[in-house]
Amino acid sequence: MRPYAFGVDIGGTAVKLGLFRTTGELMEKWSIPTRTEDGGEHVLPDVIASLRAKLEERAIPWDQVEGAGMGVPGPVKEDGTVMRCINLGWGVFNIPEQIRTLEPRIHRFRISNDVNAATLGEQWRGAAQGRKNVFMITLGTGIGGGLVINEKITNGVGGAAGEIGHFLVEPGETEICKCGRRGCLEQYCSATGLLRQAKKALLERPEIPSVLRSEAELTAKDVCDAAKAGDALALELLEKLGDRLGWALTAVTSTADPEVIVIGGGLSNAGDILLEPIVQGYRAHAFHALRDTEFTLARLGNDAGIYGCVRMLM
Ligand SMILES: [Zn+2]
Repeated sequence: MRPYAFGVDIGGTAVKLGLFRTTGELMEKWSIPTRTEDGGEHVLPDVIASLRAKLEERAIPWDQVEGAGMGVPGPVKEDGTVMRCINLGWGVFNIPEQIRTLEPRIHRFRISNDVNAATLGEQWRGAAQGRKNVFMITLGTGIGGGLVINEKITNGVGGAAGEIGHFLVEPGETEICKCGRRGCLEQYCSATGLLRQAKKALLERPEIPSVLRSEAELTAKDVCDAAKAGDALALELLEKLGDRLGWALTAVTSTADPEVIVIGGGLSNAGDILLEPIVQGYRAHAFHALRDTEFTLARLGNDAGIYGCVRMLM
């Protein structure tokens, strides 16, 4: 294997890039803005230009580079066809073909969904290091999921394996999810979902005192902070989140039976105050043979994606 490789994690506002040694050491990371205008047509040329500039800066020739792995915020099929990335303005097209046209000197190129890549990153160098079968769920603006089986990403035929954000948990919901249906996990257990539930509870139950009432602009972090300080309503909100999420995760373990479930995404920065109710909710609903599944918080933060992207090349 050649000595260097790139990890490229494309997000809606920024592209995170990493130059690695293929032994696994991150040498340098940097980011460039994601230009989503004009249907996102500048995104890949910008990435390639940034990789070229980095090699020039470090005087590394292309023949010393094993390749580049890329994560994108949308479903990706095994052949590298991206099935629309709404955040980037992308439609359906084959990314490896485009990359080879832009830069024929790239030796190897691999691509996957960004959460799948982050899951592989956590499995390789993060919270699930040493485990072969890992499920990761990211709780942020939305909910993402990634499944690694035998140290390999599972993309699925439609490129959406592991995406449990739109798993139905509340059939009676009246509000519409952004996917067009009602009662999806994401509507309750993402950072946005937790905030929505908090605002609803404050409105519907004025008799309950809570420090959350004094927040001018309530955020999901405020809810977690209040729970840490012992606020009863905030604790109840996290308990309910844990119950719903735990229930949804029993569907994952019943199907894939991973060694460990990693909880990541912005909301996971809350730490144990979030993790504990999820584990409790899970154990309360799980089939007895699956009840002992291990849970852990993600460790690599925003770097998980670039680690996983490089790992895809190996
Ligand atoms: Zn939905």
